[in-house]
Formats: sequence, C-alpha cells, structure tokens
Amino acid sequence: MATTDQLIICEHCDSVYEKVTLAKHQKTLCTRCGGVLQRYNGLTVEQRLALTFAALMLWIFANFYPVMSISLKGLKNSATLWDSVVALSLGPITFIALVAAIAMIIAPIFQLLLLIWVLGFALRHQRAPGFSFCMRWLETLRPWSMLEVCLLGAMVAVIKLAGLLDVLPGIGLFALAVLSLMMIRIAGRDIRELWDLV
Ligand SMILES: [Zn+2]
Repeated sequence: MATTDQLIICEHCDSVYEKVTLAKHQKTLCTRCGGVLQRYNGLTVEQRLALTFAALMLWIFANFYPVMSISLKGLKNSATLWDSVVALSLGPITFIALVAAIAMIIAPIFQLLLLIWVLGFALRHQRAPGFSFCMRWLETLRPWSMLEVCLLGAMVAVIKLAGLLDVLPGIGLFALAVLSLMMIRIAGRDIRELWDLV
C-alpha cells in the first residue's frame, strides 16, 4: 500500500488517488467529479523565488504609481489603488472599501511575503520556521487575492470614461496587469509541491 506522501485527495469530492509524475502540459483529473488533481509545474524553487521578487517590484509599482489619470478642460486628476480604496471608504459603502483593500492590496502582499519566506528557505532545502502555518495561510489567502477582478474593473473604467474624459492608463495599470498574471503562476495551487520538496 502507498504511504500517505504519495496520495492526493480531490479537493472537490474527497476521492483519494496515487500521485503521478506529469510531463509538460499534462494534468490529472478526478474520475469521479472531473476536478483538477495535479497540473504540470515547470517552475523550480529558484525560478519561483525570482518571479516572486519580480512580482513584489510590480506590486510596488501597482500601488505607488497611478492606475489612471483623467483630465477634463485642463483639470487633471490621477488615482492609485490606495486612492480608490480611500474614495470608497468615504462613501456609504465603507465595508466594500475594506474588501477592496484586502482583495487588491493586502492579500497579494501577504502572499508574496509568505512565498519569499518559504521559498528562501526551500532554496537551501530547509523548512522555514512556521512552514505549515505559512502554507496554510497561502492557501487561505488565494481566494481573497482578486487582482484580476480589480484589473478588469480598472479596464472597464478606463474604456467607459474614455468617451467622456481624457483618460490615460498609468504605470500602475500595466504593473497590475502583469502582476495579476504572475500571481496566478507563482501562488497557484501547485505551491503545495513544496511540502514534498522540503
Ligand atoms: Zn473529485
């Protein structure tokens, strides 16, 4: 019988399978519910760590540079992600401001810092202090990190406003676009392979 290390449980229906080694572009599906069990992950720890640092830089750009600038009859205004959260908090929907702050700013930065922490140690084949705690939090934060939703919202705003005002997408918007793609790659479900690596 296989040891528990070689087993994988379908997160949708709890069926248990034996893990297999995947080749490029392969994935395994649950025969019972069709959910994805494993996906091929071509990233080494070094590559993932390098991408995480790059993503951290992009996070800084996305947060400190304007997402868009608008101008009308000589009046100019630009807003960063944080400005949009502050603007929401001043309105009648303060709760949404909190959710937006978590989804766009707080969850992604915590994901990146936790990844740097666990990957930094994994590089030396060590388990980081608080490894299981960090891995659990990475899993918890994943659904809360909604950069792609934020990106979509910002793009809709740029396109809709473009008809009324002069709208210029800012550095923040481009950083956000690349960051949201990178987050899917580096903080996806496949980080659980770290459990076997260290
Ligand atoms: Zn299943």
